[in-house]
Amino acid sequence: MAAELQVHVVPHTHWDREWYLPFAVYRRRLVALLDSLLLALPREPGLRFHLDGQMAVVDDYLEARPDRLRALRRAAAEGRVSLGPWYTLPDEHLVSGELLLRNLELGLERARQVGEPMLIGYLPDQFGHTAQMPQLLRLRGIDTAVVWRGVPAAGLGGVFRWEALDGSAVDTIHLQHGYGHGRRLPLGAAELGERLSEETWAPVGPWLVMAGDDHLPVPSGLDAALGNAELPRATAISNLADFAAHRPAAEGCVRGELHSAASSFVLKGTLSSRFPLKLQHAAVERLLERHLEPIWTLSARPWPEPELRYIWRQLFLNSAHDTICGCSLDQVHEEAGRRLDRAARAAGSLVRRLGVDEVAETFFNPSSFERLGIAPLGTGRPDLVEARAVDPPAGLLFEDQGDRGDLYTFEPEGEPVRAPATGLVAERLGEEPLIRLQLDLHNQRPDHRLRLLFPTAARDGAWAGVAFGAVRRPYRAPGTERGQEYDLRTDPAREWVLAGGLGVILPGPFEYELLEDGHLAVTLLRCVGRISRGDLRNRPGNAGPELATPAAQMLGDHHFELAVLPAAADHLEVARWADVFCHPLAPAPAGLAAPPQLSGRPTEMVSALRRVRGRAQLRTYDLASFKIEERWLD
Ligand SMILES: [Zn+2]
Repeated sequence: MAAELQVHVVPHTHWDREWYLPFAVYRRRLVALLDSLLLALPREPGLRFHLDGQMAVVDDYLEARPDRLRALRRAAAEGRVSLGPWYTLPDEHLVSGELLLRNLELGLERARQVGEPMLIGYLPDQFGHTAQMPQLLRLRGIDTAVVWRGVPAAGLGGVFRWEALDGSAVDTIHLQHGYGHGRRLPLGAAELGERLSEETWAPVGPWLVMAGDDHLPVPSGLDAALGNAELPRATAISNLADFAAHRPAAEGCVRGELHSAASSFVLKGTLSSRFPLKLQHAAVERLLERHLEPIWTLSARPWPEPELRYIWRQLFLNSAHDTICGCSLDQVHEEAGRRLDRAARAAGSLVRRLGVDEVAETFFNPSSFERLGIAPLGTGRPDLVEARAVDPPAGLLFEDQGDRGDLYTFEPEGEPVRAPATGLVAERLGEEPLIRLQLDLHNQRPDHRLRLLFPTAARDGAWAGVAFGAVRRPYRAPGTERGQEYDLRTDPAREWVLAGGLGVILPGPFEYELLEDGHLAVTLLRCVGRISRGDLRNRPGNAGPELATPAAQMLGDHHFELAVLPAAADHLEVARWADVFCHPLAPAPAGLAAPPQLSGRPTEMVSALRRVRGRAQLRTYDLASFKIEERWLD
């Protein structure tokens, strides 16, 4: 029957675990939803339910209802609920590449403990998509993706080929009208037929109708209603895997990131909302990925699997798009801060278990190239270097502008005010070309955006670090980018950006913009007081509820560390110095194993060195071929 099915109706719910309500409230609703689903399945023989592509909702449910595991297993075995592939639905610009992969690994692993995972890269609500995502999916055996936001309008069709930076590709189903277009289908035959004809607009099928939306319950009675209605096309409840198996052929092809507002909101203001929380998150990622796991792998100690799982899980929960994006209630972000705190403490206690003390003499080099006389991924005593105070680079400015936007969208008010940047403390270490900067500032005002402006000779665009790679983005003049939102010239970077020969390095994800006069602007604080507003010029309509978020005004003290690489030769040089600045040599115990052999290519970067079921694994990526390489070391 599936082969003849023309309209695949996929009942589902989109489950933001925390957003404009805290986790505890949504969880109560989730438990009710899954209770009702498990009761409905025996009564409605055709019912199937798509569980939003994330296993965290299954864990949340089983924590409250451990006795329902068997019923859930049976439903999964019969193909009536989907499992995974993700653990949570992470924002793709604001977390590390390693976190994206680990999130997928845990989702697949948890799914396999309950049944068969859904091998579809379901990315329904993320605010745009990172350039290497197709390669990440391929690495874990997934050849199809489903996306909504960020797709450029240019005739890609309902299914397109999406290529990563290395050329590896996945067929991608574009939810052109979002994941909620088939929400609340009517059960009366005539209304149902009419509605289904509206929701299947493509000239050729098969067609996919996503029958659900944010936190909506199980559409009870839909199976019978579809059976009773006389519909012009063969229509039934289905699931994404069945639709993907019968999907129309791919039309267009696109390479790299999907971050266009042409057909959907991409909500770029989330790149800078509650920025300090994103920086804290990134600091825990770095500690885990580049210090704790590699050093532990090279030590003879048994792998601390339960502790590391606990730490990673805190990060996965925080990586969910409504959480790391900063666009939730203050209460949600307070809890996210506590999760980070717990993760950092747990990681700190593991570091102490390694036998590292404060006055260590041995240091670990987390990079793929020699640093201060220490071999790549090796340990030793670093060459002594002197830190000396220097003048900050000339011409740095603060730009302050009123922001009457919300947590999703910047909206300028009044003219930007520029002033010489004061309060920066600059130093250089030894012969390093980097100028290291520290900045302490006290924010006393609400409703504004503060940026640091670097003078550059940039006219044509910038290179920026992204998960497992780098992208070059062209300069876009004001007013040239029209779409569902307007004037979106800010972009995400990971750890570095290069424009006009100037490299700017900041440990974490950050937001930058190339200005008309050649300045490179880096957002330090964006201070707004509502989740969403319905009266913006830059975005038609709301992106969430109009709830107050006083803590998002970021009042109080803030500390930033960044670095400048003047006269950078190319993006490879900036990426390597960013690795030096963002991942300092780490105190390490003596007696670690010899470092693994690396390729020696100057373009190779380290992503992970860890143990998986007892075996050591090294993951690197290459800034020329953009290939991610995984290698077992024993
Ligand atoms: Zn969402």
